[in-house]
Amino acid sequence: MSNAADTQADNTGQLRLQVTVPNRLGLHLRPAARLVGILRGFHADVAVRKGDRTVSAASLNGVALLDARQGDRLEFTATGPDARAALDAIAALATESFGDVEARPVGVPASASAAVSAVDLPANALPGNALPTNTLAGIAAVGGTAVGQVRLLSQTHPTLPERSGDAQGEIARFRGAVAAAQGELDGLIGRVGIEEAGIFEAQRLMLADEDVLRAVLDGIAHGRSAEAAWWDSVEAMAKRYRSATSALLQGRAADVLDLGRRVLQRLMPDLLSGAAFPEDTILVASDLTPSEVAQLDPGQVVGILLQFGGAATHAAILARARGIPMVAGLGTHIADLREGLTVVLDGSRGRVTLQPPLEQIAAVQREMDARQVRLRDLRESTHLPAVTPDGRRIEVMANIGQPSDSAAAVALGAEGVGVFRTELLWMNRDAPPSEEEQVRAYAAAAAGLNGHPLTIRTLDAGGDKPIGYLDMAREENPFLGHRGIRFWFDRIDLARVQLRAICRVSRQHPVRVLFPMIATVDEIRAARRLLKLVQRELAAGLIASDPAMPIGIMIEVPSAVTMAEALAAEADFFSIGTNDLTQYLMAADRGNAAVSALATPFQPALLRAIGAVVDAAHAHGRPVAVCGEMAGDPRLTRLLLGLGVDELSMSAPAIPEVKAIVRATNYADARALAGEVLSLRTAAEVEAALTGDQREASIGN
Ligand code: PEP
Ligand code: MG
Repeated sequence: MSNAADTQADNTGQLRLQVTVPNRLGLHLRPAARLVGILRGFHADVAVRKGDRTVSAASLNGVALLDARQGDRLEFTATGPDARAALDAIAALATESFGDVEARPVGVPASASAAVSAVDLPANALPGNALPTNTLAGIAAVGGTAVGQVRLLSQTHPTLPERSGDAQGEIARFRGAVAAAQGELDGLIGRVGIEEAGIFEAQRLMLADEDVLRAVLDGIAHGRSAEAAWWDSVEAMAKRYRSATSALLQGRAADVLDLGRRVLQRLMPDLLSGAAFPEDTILVASDLTPSEVAQLDPGQVVGILLQFGGAATHAAILARARGIPMVAGLGTHIADLREGLTVVLDGSRGRVTLQPPLEQIAAVQREMDARQVRLRDLRESTHLPAVTPDGRRIEVMANIGQPSDSAAAVALGAEGVGVFRTELLWMNRDAPPSEEEQVRAYAAAAAGLNGHPLTIRTLDAGGDKPIGYLDMAREENPFLGHRGIRFWFDRIDLARVQLRAICRVSRQHPVRVLFPMIATVDEIRAARRLLKLVQRELAAGLIASDPAMPIGIMIEVPSAVTMAEALAAEADFFSIGTNDLTQYLMAADRGNAAVSALATPFQPALLRAIGAVVDAAHAHGRPVAVCGEMAGDPRLTRLLLGLGVDELSMSAPAIPEVKAIVRATNYADARALAGEVLSLRTAAEVEAALTGDQREASIGN
């Protein structure tokens, strides 16, 4: 290997080690941190020399600022009782490219894989083959491949309103935005790994900095808008970091800008809608909110890379619906993504290749073209029903977030909408949508469906979908808190208006109402009672609605699985929300990259739960849909079919392929596959069985 390490004693008794830096990206911050980290365990003074500069190997700043590139020779010298052991450890680390090429299991960030390397890993988390040095591993969040240039969200310049006349109003808005951002940071600190929590902790301290806040208030007092005054301070702060001599401190400028945007997003929810990104942008950010993803133009942003998050976050769900591939959970690898860098993003495998050779770019482009051709072919037959050769029919529906999505979904073969996530209508604004606005939105969604059913889910705010103006309390565990139907019941004013709007649209269109986060029989009964009240109220005002509108519940809380029989007696249909059901069954936050290996759709616990729910519902003659992200995953179509699911509802681009798989599969074979898979005990076994099964199937390779 080129990183030949060679330990010798010199005539002063000092030990020396020569190392050639093997990493393509040099000894940048992360490998430097690995080096400094391992030396902490030794009683030895270690220095490192590059050319005529020598620094202590215990200083991260010192090591990183040596700016050692691939092929540079470094000389380590060590004294002290552990000198030899320390140099041996450095030599070993150098052969692993200072931790840069370490293969990580998909879904386990760098911090996690380092932590578990010495213990007995679960089979589904065992590292795969080592990655090339120019490849980063993250979570396969949204499938698809893209080639483009990195654009750091933190570096984009927002267009802001300059001046404002109402200083008091601006101060109140600014304070509200700061409080909301603090709450968001608190939530993130509790949900991410230690490394990431450090970044957010620093941001939280910056946000509490009196000097910064005073400068903003000063700016507002001089007539600046809250946005402009805040951004002035942010840029001034970032400049101070940038002009520090330490590369580490300079790097913190990005964190300052990230914080800046976090607060700005609160002040201007539609911040990204006016942003113009160059074509072939690969957008890089720490995280994105669902409403930010909704504002991206897929004609400009061809891929997304995130430091945090996973495949079932709402940001990923929206990216999938918009056909933008995404790799999430890149953790500290995000620091390797510099503005303007050309990268290849493979969202199906969770890989990012930095500065790929031209042949690789050409190969990826060929692959993308071939995929386009294959999808075009599938789309030609997508209006055929999803009926197996032996006669089992599955309804294939779309999940939508805004009214205009419905017509596009029908064009892709959707036979209706399985979930209209209405909370997206409530985002990017300052107040809830009125009854009339909601009627218009639901009617527009229904109008795009040519008579197919529209399933309207009532507001599912909370969790990773906070809605600032609703004054939702700050909670330690928002996913276990005042979310979905729980919040909705406590805001009966909002619930009533929403139900009135849904009922009014049910008069002219086939509409079904769907209640999220149902955990008890009492809740479905209460929801039904409320609906009846609203229907009576409308009837009294001579406003027509469909009294027989079907009432469904999301099965996404484990208690609903165990109570499925009882719930089936109360609801007209079930829709299994596997995104939440997975996170609650596995106790693994759907947005936390560190636990994403647990939160996979291959978990036997999840599959057995689905099987049990289907059986309970069918015993009462109730149909069952699956509407979590796994419903659109072609690797799982045959299994879900075999488990007896009646409807699959997914992000629209997945529909042609899923329908084609159903049409190519005998129901009897799918049943046999489901029986076999339900007997398996580990996620790895399930994944292997399904991957093998998919290879045998004619579609989906
Ligand atoms: C789910 O939880 O699977 C689901 C469809 O709802 P959401 O993703 O909006 O929570
Ligand atoms: Mg859910």
